[in-house]
Amino acid sequence: MPETPLPLDLGELEGRRFVCADPCKLCCLCQPECLPREVDFFRQHYPDHLVLKNVPHRHYTLSLRKGQGACSFLHDGRCQVYEHRPHFCRQFPFHVHLGTRVQVELDLSCRGVWLDRGEDAVVHGLRLVRGNEAVIRRTLEEARSVYRQFDSNCREAGLDVDVARTRDQVLSRLDDMTDLRFIAALLESSVEDEGLDIPQLMARPELDSGTMEDLSRSALEMVTDSLAANELFQAPVYCPPDGSWNLFRVAGNRVERHLMDEEGDVRRIEERSLSEIALRQPEGRDRRLLRDYLRVLNGRDSLMGYAFYLLDDYDYEDPWPNVYGGVLSTSVLDLLWRCSLIASFFPGAKEGEWMREGVIFYDMDRLDAPTLGAFV
Ligand code: SF4
Ligand code: SF4
Repeated sequence: MPETPLPLDLGELEGRRFVCADPCKLCCLCQPECLPREVDFFRQHYPDHLVLKNVPHRHYTLSLRKGQGACSFLHDGRCQVYEHRPHFCRQFPFHVHLGTRVQVELDLSCRGVWLDRGEDAVVHGLRLVRGNEAVIRRTLEEARSVYRQFDSNCREAGLDVDVARTRDQVLSRLDDMTDLRFIAALLESSVEDEGLDIPQLMARPELDSGTMEDLSRSALEMVTDSLAANELFQAPVYCPPDGSWNLFRVAGNRVERHLMDEEGDVRRIEERSLSEIALRQPEGRDRRLLRDYLRVLNGRDSLMGYAFYLLDDYDYEDPWPNVYGGVLSTSVLDLLWRCSLIASFFPGAKEGEWMREGVIFYDMDRLDAPTLGAFV
C-alpha cells in the first residue's frame, strides 16, 4: 500500500537560494553527530576522531581540536574527509524539524543564504526530505506522541492553544513588533496574570528613559544567559565577512571579544563596558529586515515548540498568549542587543547591514533552543 504523503512545510525556503560562502566554516564549529553507518566508517578509518557522548542521548560525534575548536578534520579551511563528511555537514544550513508535521528551516547564521546565489532552497529542502524519508517518518511518529501528550495537558489545564490563530494575530501586528514601544508593552503584558490580547495591545506612547532601562535590563537578562558561559568555547560565535571566529562573553559588567583559530586556541582581543552597548530602535532597511525575520520566526514550528516547552516548564499555569508574547518580545530584545554589540565591536555598517549581521549572530543560537518536537 502506498504511504500517505508527508505533511510538509517548505514555506521558509521560498524565494531563497543557497551557496556555501567560503571561507567562513562556521558550520565546522558545530560538532557533527554521526549516523550509525557514519560511525562505522570513522571507526574503521579514523577511530581517534570519534567521540562518544551521553547527553542529551548516547551518540557519536567527530572530535574537536583541543576539545573546543573546530572539527578535527578541518585543515587550512578545507575538510579532509569531504567525500565522507557526516550527514549533518551535508545538510547544513538546512534543518528538518518534526512536530506535528515536517518543516525545513534555514539557518540564517550561514552567510551562504544571504547571497541570493546557488541552488533554489526549496529544491534543496525537498531533496533533503526525500533522501531521509524513513528516519523522518519514524521520528515524526515519536514527535506526534509528544504533541498528543502536550495537547492533553493543555486541555486538562483549560488552556486554549490555537497555533494558526496565534500566528495570524502576530502577523496582524508584525509592523508593531519592530517598534520598541510595542515590544515594551508586549513584554510588560506577558508577565501579568491576565491573558494578553495581542490584536488589541496598545504600544507605549513613548520611549522614556524608564522604559528604555526596563528594556535594556530584559535584553541583558536574555543575552547574559547565553553570553555568560563559564567555558569560553560555549560562548556564542559571530563570524563576520572576513571569516574570523569571534566569541563574546559577558564577565561582570564587561563584554569580552575573543578570537579563536582553527587549532582551538583562543585569545582575548578587546572588551567594552556593558553600558556602551545601547539598544536602539531599528529604522529603514534594518527595520524591514527585522520584520522579515520576525515573519520567519513566527512561522517556525521550532519556535512554537520552544514556547510549548516553556508552557510545560511553567506547569501549564500561564496564559498561552502571554508565553508566546514573552518569547517573541525577548527574542526581539536579544536580537537588537546583539545588533548593538556587533555595531560596537565592528563599526561602520551601512543601513540594513547591522540587522543582517545581528540575525547572522543570533539565528544559530535561536535554533539551538529547546523545543517540543525534534530536529533530524
Ligand atoms: S556556514 Fe554556510 S557559508 Fe559558512 S562554510 Fe558553512 S555552509 Fe558554507
Ligand atoms: S567533517 Fe568536514 S565538513 Fe564536517 S565539520 Fe568536520 S571539517 Fe567540517
